[in-house]
Amino acid sequence: MWRRVASLSPMVSSTSRYLSLHQAASRLKTWESFATEIIYPEKGDLPAKRRAPFITFVLGGPGSGKGTQCEKLVETFGLKHLSAGDLLRREIALNSKDGAIILDLIKEGKIVPSEVTVKLIQKELETSNANKFLIDGFPRSEENRIAFERIIGAEPDIVLFFDCPEEEMVKRVLNRNQGRVDDNIDTIKKRLKVFEALNLPVINYYKKKGKLYTVNAVGTVDDIFEKVRPVFASFEKLKE
Ligand code: UDP
Ligand code: MG
Repeated sequence: MWRRVASLSPMVSSTSRYLSLHQAASRLKTWESFATEIIYPEKGDLPAKRRAPFITFVLGGPGSGKGTQCEKLVETFGLKHLSAGDLLRREIALNSKDGAIILDLIKEGKIVPSEVTVKLIQKELETSNANKFLIDGFPRSEENRIAFERIIGAEPDIVLFFDCPEEEMVKRVLNRNQGRVDDNIDTIKKRLKVFEALNLPVINYYKKKGKLYTVNAVGTVDDIFEKVRPVFASFEKLKE
């Protein structure tokens, strides 16, 4: 009791460190009068921004249709689309301090250090008013995934995986004409190897966790979206 009062009274001077029992009791009462029970609001009463966001990771090899289907999900469910690749390309375009390194890695189809990508995603999550996000093309490795969990302190609610045969992905990437430095056959081959070696383990991790939704990514954009839509339509949180 004595120690508790003294430690809760940092303003007690050294001369008055030894309080009488009476003094201690009256201070305790004062302190206790501030220590009323705090009633936290029900989860649903918090403003949208304060609630834990609904996070979807969108995974799949290069050209599997992640970006295209994300656009449709934005239109239909009002989700905020964050493409990790686009955030990295923006750093290159802005000539930021990491820009040159990012460009070299992308040209080689290699994965940018987790810290860099996660910090870019973090900035977007923190500055956005949205409360439901599609994180497209990330995490690309187990290391990426672990860095996200550590830095952001969250896990995805669901993980969408666009499953597409390699030859179909190669054909799409070579035909998409977006002027990307990595859309050439040499880099595509490297990206496919990186996908298999580093991204598939992430996909398997979420499969084991029961969070993975695999969509066969062969077909027209609309056909594929009809397989994606029900996954999202079933989440009440996305209807708000
Ligand atoms: N990239 C990365 N980390 C990410 C996302 C992308 O390092 O989290 C790099 C990587 O070099 C990758 C390139 O950016 O090959 C292009 O990624 P994007 O997702 O834009 O390509 P897509 O899979 O959509 O073709
Ligand atoms: Mg993309």
